[in-house]
Amino acid sequence: MRELEMDAILESLKKVESRKVLPKSQRPSQQEAEEAVKTLLKWMGEDVAREGLLDTPKRVAKAYRELFSGYDENPHDSLGRTFEEVGGYDDMVLVKDIDFHSHCEHHLVPIIGKAHVAYLPDGRVLGLSKIARTVEIFARRLQTQENMTAQIAHTIDDALQPRGVAVMIEAEHMCMAMRGIKKQGSTTTTTCFTGAFHDGHNEQTNFLNLLRLGRK
Ligand SMILES: [Zn+2]
Repeated sequence: MRELEMDAILESLKKVESRKVLPKSQRPSQQEAEEAVKTLLKWMGEDVAREGLLDTPKRVAKAYRELFSGYDENPHDSLGRTFEEVGGYDDMVLVKDIDFHSHCEHHLVPIIGKAHVAYLPDGRVLGLSKIARTVEIFARRLQTQENMTAQIAHTIDDALQPRGVAVMIEAEHMCMAMRGIKKQGSTTTTTCFTGAFHDGHNEQTNFLNLLRLGRK
C-alpha cells in the first residue's frame, strides 16, 4: 500500500475513533431531559398543560432513549467473534438492503435508507447478522451519511482485517424533504472502500454489479 493511502486511512480511522461518547456520569438526568422537551414545546407555542401533552416529555425522552441507543453500545463488541472455518471461501460476502433509520446531526430529523456492506475475507468471516447490527448501532446515533458510511467500513475493517470492505449507503434525508429546498424523493448515495475494494478496479466493479442485480 502506498504511504499516502495509508496516511489517508489512518486519518479517517482517527476521525472515527475521535467520536467520543459522553460518559453516563456526565449526562443530564431523565428529569432534566423531560424539562428540556417541555421547554421546546413552550418555545414552539404549545400549552404544555393541556391533556394531550401531559405525558409527551416523558414519551419523547423514552423514544429518544431507544432511537439513540447506539451511544450505549460498542460496535466493536457487536461484531463478536469471527470464524475461521470458511472452507476456503475467499470471495466477496455481500449483505445488501439493510434498512436503517438514523437522524441527521444538523437538524435531529430522520435519515431513512439502506446500507449495502461487502467484504473480501482473508481466512475469517463474520456472523452475517453482525453486519446489520453494526449498521444499526451507528444508525442509532446522530449522523452524517458520509460519517456513518466510513464508520461502518472502518469498524469492520478493524475487527475482521479482511482484504477489503465496501459500504454503500442510499438514504433520504427528511431535513431536505421537509424543510428548506423541499427536495422530496431525492436520495443521497455515499460509498467507502478499503483495501482491495479501494485499490482494485475489478473488486469495486464486482461490488457495484452485484448491487445492481435484481434491481428494476
Ligand atoms: Zn439535516
